[in-house]
Amino acid sequence: MIAVDALPAPETTAYRALVRRAPVPEEVRVQTRALLLDVQQRGDAALLDLTERFDGVRLSQTRVSGEAIRAALDNLDRGLRSALEVAASNIEAVHAAQRFQEEPVDVVRGVRVWREWRPLRRVGLYVPGGRTVYPSSVLMLAIPARLAGCREIVMCSPPQHEGQVGPAILAAACLAGVNEVHAIGGAQAIAAMAYGTESVRRVDKIFGPGNAYVTAAKLAVFGEVAVDMPAGPSEILILADGSVPAPWVAADLRAQAEHAPDARAILVSTDPDLADQVRDLVDGELTDQIRVMTTTAMDAAVAFANDFAPEHLTLACSEPDKWLAQISAAGSVFLGPYAAAAAGDYATGGNHVLPTGGASRSFSALGVDAFGRTMQVQLLDRDGLRRLEPVVDAIAAAEGLTAHRESVRVRAAGRVAVPPLKGPRPRGAIQAMQPYEWEPPSGRIALEAGVPETDVVRFDTNTVPWPGASMRDLKALRLNEYPDASYTTLTDELAEYTGVSPDQITVGAGADELLDLVAKAYVGAGDPVVLSRPTYAMFRIVSEMAGGRVEAVPAAGLELDQERFLRAARHARLTWLCNPNNPTGELLPARFIATLAEETAGVVAVDEAYFEFCGVTAASLLAQFPNLVAVRTMSKAFGLAGVRLGYAIAGPLVSAALRRVRPPESVSVVSEALGVRALRDQPGMRHRVSRIVESRDLLSRDLQGLGLPVHPSAANFLLVRTGEGAAPWCLRHGLVVRTFPSSSPLAEFIRITVRTTEENARLVDALSEWRKHAG
Ligand code: PMP
Repeated sequence: MIAVDALPAPETTAYRALVRRAPVPEEVRVQTRALLLDVQQRGDAALLDLTERFDGVRLSQTRVSGEAIRAALDNLDRGLRSALEVAASNIEAVHAAQRFQEEPVDVVRGVRVWREWRPLRRVGLYVPGGRTVYPSSVLMLAIPARLAGCREIVMCSPPQHEGQVGPAILAAACLAGVNEVHAIGGAQAIAAMAYGTESVRRVDKIFGPGNAYVTAAKLAVFGEVAVDMPAGPSEILILADGSVPAPWVAADLRAQAEHAPDARAILVSTDPDLADQVRDLVDGELTDQIRVMTTTAMDAAVAFANDFAPEHLTLACSEPDKWLAQISAAGSVFLGPYAAAAAGDYATGGNHVLPTGGASRSFSALGVDAFGRTMQVQLLDRDGLRRLEPVVDAIAAAEGLTAHRESVRVRAAGRVAVPPLKGPRPRGAIQAMQPYEWEPPSGRIALEAGVPETDVVRFDTNTVPWPGASMRDLKALRLNEYPDASYTTLTDELAEYTGVSPDQITVGAGADELLDLVAKAYVGAGDPVVLSRPTYAMFRIVSEMAGGRVEAVPAAGLELDQERFLRAARHARLTWLCNPNNPTGELLPARFIATLAEETAGVVAVDEAYFEFCGVTAASLLAQFPNLVAVRTMSKAFGLAGVRLGYAIAGPLVSAALRRVRPPESVSVVSEALGVRALRDQPGMRHRVSRIVESRDLLSRDLQGLGLPVHPSAANFLLVRTGEGAAPWCLRHGLVVRTFPSSSPLAEFIRITVRTTEENARLVDALSEWRKHAG
């Protein structure tokens, strides 16, 4: 019968006995040392003998062929395969965020110090295979190794009776990108990876859990190679206050106990009734493995957890976040009633290779960082060294190291010419990014084309030819005062126009500022950001400025590859979608945006700069999806590009975040007033839009009449495949079209903004002449 005991008082013998877990027994260490020595001396011959002795199979070699690994994956049960694929993708998402990012430090001018990440070259993973066959552990070990950049990932796992490594383990190894598999188990596997044999080259670090012999072997070879952590019997500690139902707590204890007969599960409850109920639920089955204890207060339970330093810790109590702040030692913590440890074992993407037996006092859960190390680098120029000379002088003198001092002094004259260190240095992310590229200004084009500047037509800006408001419409403004920082009038006007409440509107200096605010609010260094290619260039720029890691999903033809885009977006912190898309004009239905918002936990930002030309919006989905934000502009249909006004429509949470990062009063009094004017003239806006839509269709027909393929567009521009030469020809006539760099998938295209009937006709004439001229 399982007793319900009171948690012993700290410092008592009973308490110490509870906290202390059995280390590896001495006889296991002794036996293990003999095995290690045997492998060290006899190499492969010892491996094959020991495998016969412990695993009951005589192998002719340990290496598992690439075909066998591939076949294991091909033959894996489909249901298990797709579950492992989801698990792998979640592990990848969690671990991809663990990348090393650090900026160099300029200590004094001319002295720069930094650290660079280097993956371990060859790592060895041990995966048990006796009574426990855990393909999930293969993923937990190999995926971080791959993400760290390890080139050679070796796995050892004991052969089953047929002499082959368990098929599910092989399949997982194939999925996770393991390069080399050996059918070797126990201490002999650790010896092979640590010392190397004829067929197993030694590794730089050994990872993975195992039985007492494996642990003893890992501890014994430490120094020869690095090892991840000591791994003993698995364990869970649950702290409960009665707020989580007893059957849930009992289920977690049982789940832990089923790992192995030596796995331990402990409940400490501040609610005696809960303790009794849980005991009654588990009693009789697992008496040796489960302990149930009570204590008077959560503080005492937390203090015990910190002394016990469990592998898994579940805070099955109300306000788990509050208690988390006081936890100092645990491998993996599960917060609240729904955080089943089993979810963490398989599916959350968190790592389940964890320090046990109190080792979480000094070791961490396995992560990408364990698969590499940082290398310190120092760079000095002449002035930098001179600045440090007195420091070196004084300390070297005190330590009596005169040659040290001399090695600095000898350089004091500094006749070797090296350029001084350039500084101050922008962040790495900024150095690596490309700025936005514009077509040249009209004045320069006029000069180069030899036409008056008034003859230059901007077919490249996607603006409309008529302003939506005029300075003459404005009454006297108090320009000596700052604007109303909450932009009440403009916000109310926009709320009415968009049909949402004013707290869902955030105004800014152009849509571009709002895109920047979205990135600032949601993207940090190394965060995954997804966008399509081609799309609006500012998405990448603002994301990279924030330090994000951008994944651009290439279009299939000119259309969004919807399936691939959804897959990439699943784990993105921020996903950008331009709808209709600039520069392709492609329009996706709101239904696709709903699917996207449903399938990602990150923010989905939909740029609706050209909304008025198509009428499709994500705004109607906001009540359903708190992660959605639509960004719009007054630069297009409202004819106010020169005024710089944009706005975001989002739920209250996203709106509050955007306002927090917005600089105060980036929109001027004049801009606000003009925006309000334009919004009050909606018939005028609608008239402009319908004229443009009519002209667009006409222009499209005319261009096709010239034999130029035109992509269908839901916006006020057309993407046209002209090949080389069209843009410079037009430019010579003062007609500016948008071009794309030669590296772009749109290098052969030009993008044409629909303008007035007369201006469009000028362009069609110019292109027609070019066609004749180019033959
Ligand atoms: N989003 C898209 C898709 C655009 O094409 C543009 C400008 N061409 C903007 C945003 C920028 O708009 P704003 O002028 O309001 O900054």
